[in-house]
Amino acid sequence: MKSQTNENFGFHFDNSYLQLPHEFYSKVILDPVENPAILLLNRTLAKQLELDVDALFKDGAPILTGSQMLKEAAQIAQAYAGHQFGHFNMLGDGRALLIGEHVTKNNTRFDIQLKGAGRTPYSRGGDGRAALGPMLREFLISEAMFALHVPTTRSLAVTTTGEPIYREQVYEGAVLTRVASSHLRVGTFQYAASFCDRDSLTELADYAIMRHYPELMQSENRYLAFLEEVLDRQAALIANWQLIGFIHGVMNTDNMTISGETIDYGPCAFMDQYNRGTVFSSIDTQSRYAYGNQPQMAGWNIARFAESLLPLIHDDVDEAIQLAQKTIEQFSSIYEAYYYNGMREKLGMLTVEPGDEALVDELLALMEEFEADYTNTLRVLSENKQTNEAIFQSPKFMEWEQRWLTRISQQGTTLEEALQVMQSVNPIVIPRNHQVEQAIQTFVEGDTAPFMELLQVLTNPFHLQPEHQKYTQLPNDDAPPFVSYCGT
Ligand code: AMP
Ligand code: MG
Repeated sequence: MKSQTNENFGFHFDNSYLQLPHEFYSKVILDPVENPAILLLNRTLAKQLELDVDALFKDGAPILTGSQMLKEAAQIAQAYAGHQFGHFNMLGDGRALLIGEHVTKNNTRFDIQLKGAGRTPYSRGGDGRAALGPMLREFLISEAMFALHVPTTRSLAVTTTGEPIYREQVYEGAVLTRVASSHLRVGTFQYAASFCDRDSLTELADYAIMRHYPELMQSENRYLAFLEEVLDRQAALIANWQLIGFIHGVMNTDNMTISGETIDYGPCAFMDQYNRGTVFSSIDTQSRYAYGNQPQMAGWNIARFAESLLPLIHDDVDEAIQLAQKTIEQFSSIYEAYYYNGMREKLGMLTVEPGDEALVDELLALMEEFEADYTNTLRVLSENKQTNEAIFQSPKFMEWEQRWLTRISQQGTTLEEALQVMQSVNPIVIPRNHQVEQAIQTFVEGDTAPFMELLQVLTNPFHLQPEHQKYTQLPNDDAPPFVSYCGT
């Protein structure tokens, strides 16, 4: 490996993706932007990536907008397809540029991608650009997710371009520097299966296995093992989302990674009141990606992944279908195991007992009935506090609580020990939509302080300084319902 030079800001690129057949990407040369300026730099992440943080902050803006290229940059947009709300389309990076795969000293590989950098051959009618607000939103929420221990792409920087972008209004253009263990998606495999030959599909699959699951290369049927592994990671990921009340909003197959990281923070949002039907996205008119549907939709996406892999799973089509079918049938039980194990922890139930799942479901039904806030209810339970919320006053809850306390007393731990575990997994703060929107709005108008404070609070969600109590507050009763928009 080359020695570190300030010139490259500590980036060491080794672009393994370029070894795939050319149909998997397009080289992109962008026009320099008007006036690049770094507005936000994730210094902690930059240090973890062994970058030259100060130099990057001082001189990195042209690099982080795609106006200048680093040495050994890949400079590509990736090809992929995907089912968008159930409809299959050819897609690809229409507004993202992979500048390279950065490899750290301990040989960990990260895609460094510029989201909103400009047009690519996959842009179709789009301008390839992004507005500042949504890029700030992705930065904030992805970093909050990371702090909540959910696998996710990270955000290294938000850089403005100095150029206007045109939507229903004129906005300031910005580029998000996204860091991911890769950008391989279910949609990448759908693209290979639909538009490339079997050799290309095989190369892609071997590449993905080597990059994310190298131990599977020894398996008897490595493509089936690959399907099982991706299924497992996705089941674990969606369980994580459900456990914290996160609604992705656009779980199209192009937004499902092979690594099991959450990707693409467009219309996503966190649920306040527990309600399985919660949808925030303006474009999800059929509630396809409602909170309660997410596990089922992940299973549907995995089935599309399995279909793409069929030619590799077995030479005999019927045999391949049978093997794939047997695997994807396990999705819901694997998901449920992750989910209920997580809920057990959230309720301080540290052993596995037959009645646990019913106890979890009953509490959730009470939250739904009393329109209780999901996060705050679990946190109040974790702190063994009394509050005057309707749910806690109800005889039904008191009856549930007695059974729960009895359940805990029978597991050989003290209540105090159970509460300790609960406090370590039930966040005090989540990105509340009304607070996120206000912080972004204020930032865009020029005052960055509220955004920076919210970011700091969300980076440590299991602890709260007394002066930050306001971040646990719900929107006012008379506030209009929150709606999120994507593609902006
Ligand atoms: P998303 O909903 O963000 O996952 O995007 C779906 C597809 O639309 C992807 O292929 C994106 O690259 C593309 N896309 C989104 N916004 C734009 C834009 N402003 N210009 C060009 N392509 C875009
Ligand atoms: Mg996407």
